[in-house]
Amino acid sequence: MVGAGPTGLLLAGDLAEAGVPVTLVERRHAGLSNLSRALVVHATTLEAFDARGLAQELIGKGAPVRALRLFDTAVVDVSELPTPYPYLLVVPQYETEAVLQARLDRLGVRTRYETEVVGLRQDAGGVALTVRDADGTHEERAAYVVGTDGHKSSIRRLLGVEFPGHTVVASVMLVDAVLSDPPELRIATNTDGDKFAFVAPFKDGYHRIIAWDQSHPKAETEPVDIEEVRAVLRATLGTDFGMGEPRWSSRFHSDERQAEHYRVGRVFLAGDAAHTHSPAGGQGMNTGLLDAANLSWKLAAVLRGRADAALLDTYESERYPVGTAVIKGSGRLLRAAQIKATPARRLRNLAMHFALSRPLVNRRIGLALSGLWIKYPVPAGAHELTGHQAGDVPLDGSPARLFEALRGGSFVLLAPADLHEAAAKAGVRAAVPTDGGPVRLVRPDGYIAWAADAPSAEEVTLAIGASGA
Ligand SMILES: Cc1cc2nc3c(=O)[nH]c(=O)nc-3n(C[C@H](O)[C@H](O)[C@H](O)COP(=O)(O)OP(=O)(O)OC[C@H]3O[C@@H](n4cnc5c(N)ncnc54)[C@H](O)[C@@H]3O)c2cc1C
Repeated sequence: MVGAGPTGLLLAGDLAEAGVPVTLVERRHAGLSNLSRALVVHATTLEAFDARGLAQELIGKGAPVRALRLFDTAVVDVSELPTPYPYLLVVPQYETEAVLQARLDRLGVRTRYETEVVGLRQDAGGVALTVRDADGTHEERAAYVVGTDGHKSSIRRLLGVEFPGHTVVASVMLVDAVLSDPPELRIATNTDGDKFAFVAPFKDGYHRIIAWDQSHPKAETEPVDIEEVRAVLRATLGTDFGMGEPRWSSRFHSDERQAEHYRVGRVFLAGDAAHTHSPAGGQGMNTGLLDAANLSWKLAAVLRGRADAALLDTYESERYPVGTAVIKGSGRLLRAAQIKATPARRLRNLAMHFALSRPLVNRRIGLALSGLWIKYPVPAGAHELTGHQAGDVPLDGSPARLFEALRGGSFVLLAPADLHEAAAKAGVRAAVPTDGGPVRLVRPDGYIAWAADAPSAEEVTLAIGASGA
């Protein structure tokens, strides 16, 4: 793994937990990045953390928000979504990384800091990386390499993979400060002409404020002017919420780009190295973490000889379309926020208010934000549940629910007890579901690999054999 951001940390932890030798290199000096970038963790990511026994640790560091005000009076309510986590967890990115880092520490994986990858070549048997560290520059070999090295990815450049797209926002101000009179709905966002503001609470009493005034573009190196942030808040949300002096401020710019390929031979791209977009919708880190969850079990299955290397092709065929959809969705939200003319803005606010007052639309937007919409492509004739997220299915006995049964990176067969022998022979965990659903074979990342209404033991055996379990 090249790059110890959230994507690399999750991937390395999964591989180590599966018993696969893993090396994580990071060019930064030791310790976590103090950049407070991502602040929203969505339901599907919390489910992935639950399937690793990490959800409660992360939730303990964050503030759950069940509804957010989007453009004037339009409110998205996620409290009825079909998940054990019907909220957005507001938590600084360094806390999410700390939970993943603590897991690596428990597994005995040591990140090699101040170690930069500067060259790459591959052959049929593996990948040779040129690595620069305190001992100088030398070559190291690995069976597979994953570039989790962010939007300026060296691995992507060394592979010669294009990253087409363009810059969409520049010099946006970020501030973490205390608000003496915070917004009622906890997350508030609105625009006014050239101005955009977003406010969300952290658990420790501070708020994250994102403020952007397009009429006053400034260099990214200029310090944030707190009076300018106040002016943007007043213009867009009607108040500066009694904002005090910030503990941290910064400026950022964002591009919308997607790598042309997520895999070249034995080298993969994941996270921001594969896709990047503006923070609108809070999707970047969440998407990277789910890339990692998709790839880790496949790499482990191939490296342990349980699956053919062809399984690795499904990483790109499953995750590339998700990346495209996320960039489009985030872009639509950003473009809506950028509408400047007052009549068009009023129309947008009215249309959003009207649309979101309809429960079905509200739910659809909630599903899109939370990642619960994701379904992977399936072969023709597959059961209708195949490719969908299984959800936290209740189970008879202990463990009492699917996300607990998935811990340890195993497939889980959900079936009546008389079909469990087929699973046991293949070394797959089995449990009796109590939701009345069909027989399902659930992948370690929580997606349904195969389902059937009343299969025979032979059919179950065949399905397990074909799945990479
Ligand atoms: C203001 C802002 C707000 C955001 N809000 C959200 C949000 O609410 N929700 C959300 O999901 N996302 C959000 N994001 C996006 C999120 O921060 C990124 O998507 C996330 O950090 C990507 O994680 P990553 O692990 O893929 O890459 P990174 O976090 O960029 O990590 C890559 C790592 O690779 C290392 N590296 C690079 N090159 C090399 C090399 N050659 N050798 C060794 N190491 C190398 C880097 O030092 C770095 O540590 C936001 C971003 C910004 C800027």
